[in-house]
Amino acid sequence: MIEVLGFTALLGYLQAGIAKMSDPRKDSPNKQYSVKDAVLSAFGAFFMQCESFLEYQRQLNSRKGRDNTQTLFRVAKIPTDNQIRNILDPIGASTLVSVFHQIYRVLKTKGYLKPFEVLGGQLLVSLDGTEYFSSQSIHCDQCSHRTHKNGTVTYFHSAILPAIVAPGQEHVISLDPEFITPQDGHEKQDCEIEAAKRWVNRHTELFGNGQVTLLGDDLYSRQPMCELVTSLGFHYIFTCLPESHIALYDWLKYLNTNGEVSHQSVRVRHGRKWHFYNYRWANNIPLRDSQPAMLTNWFELTITCDEQVIFENAWVCDRPVSNDNITELADKRSCPMENREREP
Ligand SMILES: [Zn+2]
Repeated sequence: MIEVLGFTALLGYLQAGIAKMSDPRKDSPNKQYSVKDAVLSAFGAFFMQCESFLEYQRQLNSRKGRDNTQTLFRVAKIPTDNQIRNILDPIGASTLVSVFHQIYRVLKTKGYLKPFEVLGGQLLVSLDGTEYFSSQSIHCDQCSHRTHKNGTVTYFHSAILPAIVAPGQEHVISLDPEFITPQDGHEKQDCEIEAAKRWVNRHTELFGNGQVTLLGDDLYSRQPMCELVTSLGFHYIFTCLPESHIALYDWLKYLNTNGEVSHQSVRVRHGRKWHFYNYRWANNIPLRDSQPAMLTNWFELTITCDEQVIFENAWVCDRPVSNDNITELADKRSCPMENREREP
């Protein structure tokens, strides 16, 4: 997809975003490198997924008088890693949020998101927390930390990295991140949920049109989050585990004894074997024990092969589940960012 829209065009959006960044070194006489060169060099290193990319390009430049950062990324003069940090550390990452939004709008307008549409024109946006810095010695005021049993402390930074995902699509489309900050709550999961709420609130204008379904793991399938996202015009499909939803699973047990849990089985050939996709669902059941409890819809997929369970998961969603949509609802498990291992 990137090839079709063109790397140069995409880079153009980044350059336009950089042009709007203000240089915090206003009065400093020593400005050998521009903010633009610092951002584009950092972008280049991450884009190439290579730690020594910049150093290699610097050597190339001194030998040949030109290098790939100039031709590919339009860097005039390559700063060192430390110079990049010094220039960029005081600048908030939020100044580049608009770049993600512009690229999303272009992809949408030009029809590139069509292959990502599921469930009657919905885009699936996966919310997933991840750590991007970890150290036992270096830390700052914005660091989250965990204390280990032996008394040592690990400092870390984490963020939610939302992405548009779709079953059968090997690429994902990254959206702007939301940084998880330690002030948000005492528990790690509270911090992540607070950050997710901020992200959802920030994207109501862009996505709150009923055409985006949020995906999230079991942390997200709690009433405050579900209520917030539906009130802002989003749909949700969140993992719902028995350990954390005792009341809901008690309801299911009761419905099940009365034969009120719907089910469907599909047999799919897999090489020489058969995989059995067993779906179960129930609509309009309370999400939690305490009142007022919102009503939600639950579904489960268990895949068996040779009578062994090879996959099982369960979710809650705001859309009523039926014979017609159950396979498509559960199909999101093949999305690239779904069901990734979480840290304990
Ligand atoms: Zn820090």
